[in-house]
Amino acid sequence: MAERPVRSMLDKASVDRLAERLKGKTLTPEDTRYDTELSGFNLIARHRPALVVAALTTDDVAAAVSFAAGLGLPVSVQATGHGIAAPATGGVLISTRRMNAVVVDPVTRTAYVEAGARWHQVIESAGRHGLAPLNGSSPLVGVVGYTLGGGLGPLGRRYGFAADHVVRAEIVTADGAVRYAGADAHPDLFWALRGGKGNFGVVTGLWFRLMPVRRLYGGGLYFPGEQSARVLDTWSRWTATVPEEMTSSLALLRLPDVPDVPDFLRGRLAAHIRIAFTGTAQEGERLVRPLRAAGSALLDSVAEMPYTAVARIHQDVTHPLPYHERNIVLRELGAAATGELLRVAGPASGCGDTMVEVRHTGGALGRPADVPNAVGARDGAYILSTLSPPGGRDQVLRAMEPWGTGRRYLNFLAGPDTATATAECFDAPTLARLARVKAAYDPENTFRHHHNIAPRP
Ligand SMILES: Cc1cc2nc3c(=O)[nH]c(=O)nc-3n(C[C@H](O)[C@H](O)[C@H](O)COP(=O)(O)OP(=O)(O)OC[C@H]3O[C@@H](n4cnc5c(N)ncnc54)[C@H](O)[C@@H]3O)c2cc1C
Repeated sequence: MAERPVRSMLDKASVDRLAERLKGKTLTPEDTRYDTELSGFNLIARHRPALVVAALTTDDVAAAVSFAAGLGLPVSVQATGHGIAAPATGGVLISTRRMNAVVVDPVTRTAYVEAGARWHQVIESAGRHGLAPLNGSSPLVGVVGYTLGGGLGPLGRRYGFAADHVVRAEIVTADGAVRYAGADAHPDLFWALRGGKGNFGVVTGLWFRLMPVRRLYGGGLYFPGEQSARVLDTWSRWTATVPEEMTSSLALLRLPDVPDVPDFLRGRLAAHIRIAFTGTAQEGERLVRPLRAAGSALLDSVAEMPYTAVARIHQDVTHPLPYHERNIVLRELGAAATGELLRVAGPASGCGDTMVEVRHTGGALGRPADVPNAVGARDGAYILSTLSPPGGRDQVLRAMEPWGTGRRYLNFLAGPDTATATAECFDAPTLARLARVKAAYDPENTFRHHHNIAPRP
């Protein structure tokens, strides 16, 4: 859909009238706080909307959506900026960073979060009751954006995607209405937004189940890059033998030679195996033994740990930086596939990616949710993702295509050149159904400035 000129539509009087209805604020590009409000984690692109609504309440979000829809303007949403696709230009951006309430109910084992909450808040609150959410590798990521895109984390093979455990959503749809979607309320919308991400409205509140997990046997095994071949081969064979209680991944890291990277990883290739096992430490130690024997670890942090320390497993970077993220779902990772992966990303490859990570999926990640949803990427055994600096190419993904299922995982796409990959995240019937739900709830494609699913009757 072609963008309409917006400058003339956003006259000061109409913006002032909107501002009067808000508990939060409006910010235009002339405002000194505009840039700060738009700052986010991934610096690969910057949103440049005509108007920012820094929302405080669901009513603020509804007012902003009604305002934009009335003028035919696109609406985008930013919580943390971890998941930017194409930059939002010209329309209205709703900044949810101040809507960050989190309430944990230990009796029903559920959590409620507002639109801007981050995972570390839920991990801490749930942890006080011996419970855990299905967060991902970084506790700084936004709960809502992550969950709507699927949500693949360290408990994934045991419990499935985060989206599989959503019980209710409060959502402002393109007509400005506040709706509640659940198994028996707007079931089509409920199906679509769990996996179809921000295409159906702005989710202002989310209720989801927590898991009875208070501890893990987990951490990381870091090996020198020269040992990648043996480590990758051992890990890939090992994944075929482990129970669903074991979720793991292997990352080939090429971290820069800068002070905030630990000495032993700085400016060199390392193979990092990430382990999260919900069974006993004794059983975990037995399962991890072959991995420990695969090389001489630079660091071995795999041990009994409280779930609240889950960030230690992946040790994701915490400061903003520019990068592309792309991925491919893999059917298998046998000898031919690992050989090719080493050729394009191993020690002698000259690969420019900061990280090439293979996550072991399957288990509960391969089964449909109790209340089915739109999450794609269930059909493979692994998801391989690459993080590359600006200008980086996707030669690793191209080389791995012979082992791909043809699918991609929506949450592991970031950067403007990934906006068109959305269709590859779903099989044809799922994509067609998503487009029909989109046509019902957002016929004008108001929510289009991200990984967009176009409406189709
Ligand atoms: C360091 C890092 C680690 C990550 N680890 C994992 C991981 O382990 N597993 C995994 O699955 N993903 C992971 N991701 C990807 C992450 O889940 C996505 O980037 C997600 O979109 C981030 O959401 P956000 O709200 O934090 O980001 P934002 O950039 O603020 O939002 C991204 C998009 O999410 C949608 N969105 C956000 N809020 C709302 C809302 N209230 N209503 C409707 N739509 C909304 C919109 O489409 C928006 O454009 C990781 C990303 C990073 C950078």
